[in-house]
Amino acid sequence: MKNHYSLVIIGAGPAGMSAAVEAANHGIDVALLDEQEVPGGQIYRAMESIPPERAKLLGSEYLHGEKLVTELRNASIDYFPGTQVWSLNEKLEIGLLHHDKTAMISADQVILANGAIERPVPFPGWTLPGVMNAGAGQILLKSHGIVPKDGVVLAGSGPLLLLLAWQYHHAGVKIKALLDLTPMQNHLRALPHLPRALLAGHYLSKGMAYKKDLKQAGIGTLHNVSNLVARGQSKLDTISFKHSGQIHSIETDLLLIHFGVIPHTQLSRAAGCQHQWNPSQQCWTPGLNKWGSSSINRILIAGDGAGIGGARTAEHAGRLAAFQALYKLGKITRTERKQLARKDRKWMREERHIRPFLEAFFHIPEKLLKVPDDNTLVCRCEEVTAGEIRSAVHAGHSDSNQVKFLTRCGMGPCQGRQCAEAVSHIIADANGDNKPQELYRGRAPVTPLTLGQLASLFPEEQE
Ligand SMILES: Cc1cc2nc3c(=O)[nH]c(=O)nc-3n(C[C@H](O)[C@H](O)[C@H](O)COP(=O)(O)OP(=O)(O)OC[C@H]3O[C@@H](n4cnc5c(N)ncnc54)[C@H](O)[C@@H]3O)c2cc1C
Repeated sequence: MKNHYSLVIIGAGPAGMSAAVEAANHGIDVALLDEQEVPGGQIYRAMESIPPERAKLLGSEYLHGEKLVTELRNASIDYFPGTQVWSLNEKLEIGLLHHDKTAMISADQVILANGAIERPVPFPGWTLPGVMNAGAGQILLKSHGIVPKDGVVLAGSGPLLLLLAWQYHHAGVKIKALLDLTPMQNHLRALPHLPRALLAGHYLSKGMAYKKDLKQAGIGTLHNVSNLVARGQSKLDTISFKHSGQIHSIETDLLLIHFGVIPHTQLSRAAGCQHQWNPSQQCWTPGLNKWGSSSINRILIAGDGAGIGGARTAEHAGRLAAFQALYKLGKITRTERKQLARKDRKWMREERHIRPFLEAFFHIPEKLLKVPDDNTLVCRCEEVTAGEIRSAVHAGHSDSNQVKFLTRCGMGPCQGRQCAEAVSHIIADANGDNKPQELYRGRAPVTPLTLGQLASLFPEEQE
């Protein structure tokens, strides 16, 4: 690895891979860093090693990634898998961890393509062993073919839930229940966006086909579910929920939950990029121009980390960011940039037809985001409850950072990845504000490092 590159790209999902290939094919030195051992990101995970029958099970959307991964392997890119980025600052200095050793490198341009995380939504019992994110279940399926042995309950809201139910069903997993916490009024909310969504009708018909397939197999979805609670002494044994005015319970040792995905902003916040509240996606997104340039000079952001757009949009956005980096590096002219971008812009426009409908349809109920009861753990690392956060607000600490200093929420190993959004909603609700509070200030290291790892930055001082 060199100390300096013209372009460093963080994340080897569709956005990072397409950006890296485009930039390398224009002859600049590119480093592509990703914490995973193989390229593909969330969606095209384990693309190179997956057995054909499992790949088929994951569907055509998954198989689309094969071309991108092959192009990546054939391009002249310094690709560093197994490399975690723990710091990015406004001078474009990048702290990374590779094989237990830390290093700092720098770049003339950075493309942040680090994707999304599943939206953490605290509810009673969500920290019990046996309650996991649906995405984690899907990662085990994609990477290792591991599926639940004794069946599973799936609950939440968002397209991934239905997709995973369908994939599990075809992998022979018993679906004990599929609980949809999307409120009925979302149908009305989404209706005005339906005509535009029909222009991307293949997404809708795919969703309907999954539903029909599951229904024919006797797996119905319970809609308009609320009041989800996970129970158990040391691990999950039962869940309860409200449906059609009655409380129901199901015995299960595995509950997979999903409430959509949100941009992974820890690095963009640590770098000091400006972020804005996106009401339709219900999350904070970095403020960007149409090329993906952030408020920090020479840092570009592409893919789901820029705002949720899905895998195909991420691929096009990655290329647009690469064109911008090439232009800034003097490798292409403004006119060439415009011409090169034409195709990707057209595809992106078409891909985006479906988004307003999906965002309205899967709008998470405000109540679920703002009002976990006082005893519910919000910061699972430091064990801070919703009640403690509210008490801090009532004592006069009215923003996320003040509440963090007072209660230690967000100071544990995940550095707020699991609680930042919930804390911002709870504070806003306690303050009577409509808009959630800004998330915690980003701080390096965004992931835990041991002192030994940090010390490896200064080998001469160790001797
Ligand atoms: C859990 C999960 C499951 C999903 N499943 C599906 C699905 O089945 N079908 C579908 O259509 N869409 C799915 N999506 C959405 C889809 O993955 C995204 O739309 C798409 O992958 C976005 O591409 P991207 O390149 O922006 O980010 P990603 O594909 O997420 O790639 C980002 C990459 O950055 C890496 N990274 C992140 N932080 C760091 C860091 N600090 N240091 C180094 N590397 C880092 C990640 O490991 C990852 O490889 C899923 C999303 C999630 C979060």
